[in-house]
Amino acid sequence: MYCLDFMSNKNEQNRVAMFSIHADPLAAIGSRESGGQNVYIRNLVINLDKHGWRVDVFTRFDDSKKKTVAKIGKNSRVIRLKGGKPAYIPKGQLNPHFPEIYKNFLKFINFQNPYKIFHGHHYDGGWIALQAHKEFNKPLIVNFHSLGRVRFQTQRLYAVASNEQKIFEERFTMEQKIIKGASLIISLADTEKRDLNLLYGTPLEKVAVLPGGVDIREFMPLSKNKARETLRLSKEDFILLFVGRLEWRKGVGTLISTVRLLKENILNVKALIVGGKIFGLKKNKDDWNEYQRLLKKAEEENVGDSIHFVGRVDQGRLPLFYSAADILVVPSYYEPFGLVALEGMASQIPIVASRKGGLRFTIKDGQSGLLFEPRNPLDLKEKVLQIYRSQELAAFLVKNAYQDVLENYSWKYIAEKINDIYKSFI
Ligand code: UDP
Repeated sequence: MYCLDFMSNKNEQNRVAMFSIHADPLAAIGSRESGGQNVYIRNLVINLDKHGWRVDVFTRFDDSKKKTVAKIGKNSRVIRLKGGKPAYIPKGQLNPHFPEIYKNFLKFINFQNPYKIFHGHHYDGGWIALQAHKEFNKPLIVNFHSLGRVRFQTQRLYAVASNEQKIFEERFTMEQKIIKGASLIISLADTEKRDLNLLYGTPLEKVAVLPGGVDIREFMPLSKNKARETLRLSKEDFILLFVGRLEWRKGVGTLISTVRLLKENILNVKALIVGGKIFGLKKNKDDWNEYQRLLKKAEEENVGDSIHFVGRVDQGRLPLFYSAADILVVPSYYEPFGLVALEGMASQIPIVASRKGGLRFTIKDGQSGLLFEPRNPLDLKEKVLQIYRSQELAAFLVKNAYQDVLENYSWKYIAEKINDIYKSFI
């Protein structure tokens, strides 16, 4: 009812501009800068569109073969704005191109704003949305998806050498200004709300917590045997699956060390690492470097034969991998939310995840999965063994996790909440 009334409104109360500069919602997922944010925005926009919103998602034109305008949902669009060369530019090097991107946004709308809300994603999209908010005086809503200060602290905690100090400092300043200008910040987990308050002084009432979602029809479980046949995986192996971008903070190194430790108990243990543009002609340089680092680590730990890198896989084929696995491991050192955990829950496989960020909330320890201390292979080994040794425990965790997904994590439900938020600001 509401949707129809809303669509027919002649004042076009239903137009929203989203900004997702490094993450094109229609991009192929699973490489350095295409992951959870892209998936989140794609699903959110498709479902907001069903509520009658006309969303334009502005992203950077990062591939000369892409169309400048593409359709998403019935009435929504992805609009690619020129900013720097029309090719991949690492996220940390995009800041100098923000003014050009914003200028091209203004040109696209012919300097006349048709939007009722500006919704920025990450600090890059937040920054462009902030400029639009200041110029046209419409509400600014922001999803950070990850926070510079937390990411920086994580690197420091684990003593990782980084030459990104200057990039981080610029990012902190921008984040602070975006927070100041925002009417509302949507965090995917309570941890981010707390971090926004403690590390950035954000008033708690400025932050709403709303998780990510998963489509149970997309991640329907298949027969394990069939999935393994299709993927040519041995039925005898005990398979630990990782799915995600190949990035240091995802903790694949911990998984590799754990496989070495597990060899004492499970001779046929294998890790399947899905993610990263590491094969074929269009490799991503950063993914490739991380892949080489991990390969070296696997060799050093003498488990090279047990770690199998698959490269990035289209979401449509991911159910095969989830269904073929015995356990999904999410070993992140920093994880603002972690859609992969939800996908594992929907796919009905047991999950062991690190006690970090959003994972602490999505996985209820001992109920819908097991949590382990981040970067602690011994603890991860223990948790894997608990599931390996008890089919009852595995079945109990899977049942509860699936129920949780049904009750709390549909994209439809999340879009309904954001629909309410938008309405409250118009
Ligand atoms: N993904 C994918 N193909 C891959 C690797 C990952 O489609 O080869 C998807 C995965 O299914 C999930 C997203 O990328 O939807 C990763 O989201 P998550 O929130 O777990 O991590 P982020 O990318 O936000 O760090």
